[in-house]
Amino acid sequence: MALIVKKFGGSSVANNERLFNVARIIEKDYKKGNDVIVVVSAQGDTTDDLIAQAYSVNPNGPSKREMDMLISAGEQMSISLLAMAIETLGLPVVSLLGWQAGFVTDSHYSIARIKRIESERLRAELAKKNIVIVAGFQGLNKYDDITTFGRGGSDTSAVAIAAELKADLCQIYTDVDGVYTADPRIVKNAKKLDEITHDEMLELATLGAQVLNNRSVEMAKKHGVELEVLSSLTPDVKGTIVKEVVSMEKTIIRGVAKDSNVSRISIVGLADQPGIAFKVFNRLAQAKVNVDIILQSVGRDGTKDITFTVTKDQCDAAIESIKALSDSLKYKHVVHDESVCKISIVGTGMETHPGVAAKMFEALYDADINIQTISTSEIKISVLVDIKDAERALNAVHDKFIH
Ligand code: ADP
Ligand code: ASP
Ligand code: MG
Repeated sequence: MALIVKKFGGSSVANNERLFNVARIIEKDYKKGNDVIVVVSAQGDTTDDLIAQAYSVNPNGPSKREMDMLISAGEQMSISLLAMAIETLGLPVVSLLGWQAGFVTDSHYSIARIKRIESERLRAELAKKNIVIVAGFQGLNKYDDITTFGRGGSDTSAVAIAAELKADLCQIYTDVDGVYTADPRIVKNAKKLDEITHDEMLELATLGAQVLNNRSVEMAKKHGVELEVLSSLTPDVKGTIVKEVVSMEKTIIRGVAKDSNVSRISIVGLADQPGIAFKVFNRLAQAKVNVDIILQSVGRDGTKDITFTVTKDQCDAAIESIKALSDSLKYKHVVHDESVCKISIVGTGMETHPGVAAKMFEALYDADINIQTISTSEIKISVLVDIKDAERALNAVHDKFIH
């Protein structure tokens, strides 16, 4: 007998037929004598629809507290409906909201972090032999308010439960049958990976491969949780294992990712003096703006430009922060561009292989795609390209490295 945590994403529970499909997958494991905890996302586009509804009431943006109150309701619907589907199979089942399952979070509404899981209730329900269905992506803060974990956060709920209860298996069911070398919906030559390391998966997820939420991978790595990514539509097809050490032969590049959630901001005509970059980035840090790629031009005629990227939702905050500095920081103007996209290659093998960057740039050159900025680390290389070239760039870079 094992303890199995299974997570089903929004498309896996989108309608009644899918709910019964999931119920049968759960039944199979339960009838083998296993303890089963299931984490579920909101059905289909429910979360998007709730967010749109919130903005239709308050176009200026509702408070984050009320937003969390609203969007957590999507999961309340899906857990109860899934439990009802399981009841029809004659199996004992109970659905629990995040707080009932013991999720205690910090107070950052909409991007809350899990502090701990008070797991007595979960353990008690398992002891009663109940199948436990838990609402993903939500918990309770110290003010007894509902918080959510950020988009795609149900993956993190599942990993957190698996870590807390030392589950034997943590399976993430989605609408593709594993992690591919690139998004299989965009890159037709993408190949399914049998295995991938936590580090590589974390980079891919952070750089735009939404198949797993990056925080969930971070947590899985920290607690040594092995994950299996598989499809709820073909549950018997072997998925991808995310684990600490992979046995497959060492390849240089594990995957390619695209991220369109990028804004590029340039501060033009800054004084070319010591301390300028400090002032800019210190101010952005104070405003809690996360800066990604940074590029500084070579000084000319006593001035220089600094360009950096942020996620789209932080663009306004970043520009306001720079404008607020205009007394102590002289510059000509600030410009921003939303029509950019980040294309990245990821692989732990690349640090020992010279020429990887050149090969990536050659692929883009051959496809006649202009590179706007470049950033590298030991495990990844990212470039910024025009959004209209994004899918072509993703395919060109993928096919150069992965055959
Ligand atoms: P869920 O609702 O189940 O959480 P998501 O939409 O969050 O599903 O994630 C699944 C999607 O991730 C797939 O439909 C696929 O288009 C996309 N995706 C992006 N990159 C990859 C990749 N490298 N491998 C597999 N899927 C990917
Ligand atoms: N329902 C939430 C979302 O759409 C959480 C999740 O699906 O993981 O982002
Ligand atoms: Mg997801």
